[in-house]
Amino acid sequence: MFALRVPAEYGGQGRDAVSTGIALEELARADLSVCYPVLNAALISGVLAANGTAEQLARWLPPIARGEAVRAALVESGTGLSAERTRRALEAHGIGPHDLAWIVVTHVHLDHAGGAGELARRFPSATVVVHPRGARHLADPERLTASARAVHGDLMDTVYGPMTPVEPQRIRAVEDGEEIDLGDRRLRVVHTPGHAPHHLVVRDDSTGVLFAGDAAGVRVDGMTSARPACPPPHFDRDATVAGMRRMAELKPNRLLLTHFGDPGDPAAFLDDAEQRLRRWCSVAERLAAGDEAELEAELLRRFAADESMPADDPERFAVMGGFASNAVGLRQWARSRTGREEVGTDALR
Ligand SMILES: [Zn+2]
Repeated sequence: MFALRVPAEYGGQGRDAVSTGIALEELARADLSVCYPVLNAALISGVLAANGTAEQLARWLPPIARGEAVRAALVESGTGLSAERTRRALEAHGIGPHDLAWIVVTHVHLDHAGGAGELARRFPSATVVVHPRGARHLADPERLTASARAVHGDLMDTVYGPMTPVEPQRIRAVEDGEEIDLGDRRLRVVHTPGHAPHHLVVRDDSTGVLFAGDAAGVRVDGMTSARPACPPPHFDRDATVAGMRRMAELKPNRLLLTHFGDPGDPAAFLDDAEQRLRRWCSVAERLAAGDEAELEAELLRRFAADESMPADDPERFAVMGGFASNAVGLRQWARSRTGREEVGTDALR
């Protein structure tokens, strides 16, 4: 469809403006957002073909006709088991096998990056973007999946599925502040360790949307507040708080949480998330000497009621954001602090 107004000698269909307009109307009737990139390609290639130099035409018209000048990005791969469903959803949005330029994972927990290899296989033109500390786990997931199996047990087969390696030449490890090129706009990468040391967020500077991963907590529709996300083995309170403040400084118009969606006013949400995290952490510090079950029970007693979790939805968090896994991560964090104070070791981090 991108080839409508590109002359035939540059690989296009060479249609006139009227038949292109009819095609665009039909597309828009089916799906307005799919029509939009096609409309842009038609306008640009029409103007270019009429006014460009021979050199410009040869440089730009063939990739427009092939659809390669439009670059789409997907933030989060989902799990290995969800990759095929994601592919179908992208296809329904008009994004075919060669239309996806980037797969960005906010961190390498399996619900975010587990499907990166499977998706990379289905979208052979895509490069996988990841924090430098997560890159080796995408190329060689064995250690990551072994430790995940130790935590999640049989859920590895029923929920997460296998993690296919990503070919190393298709992985781009991005530093803080780097940009991802989408052709007409850019995504800015911001490192936000804390939830995990390999966590980053991305901001679309053209819309002000910030993809927050798990850096600000998790919630489902209907919850009045987000739940802190403090999983083992590397949760760190101070880094998480610093990440939340960096996100606030980016002044997003809109936050999008991987679990799940838009929580409303970003500044108010981030402020509330920080206060809530601090309260959870102080409970963990107080009970650091006890066991995980005791901490989990206390977290539930203190905080479950003010989340207003919808009654029909509690198990949605049981796997990756439950009170039990938070208790494990928080207790490890609290004890590592005590350990550092006593013997000055950093071994648990
Ligand atoms: Zn996570």
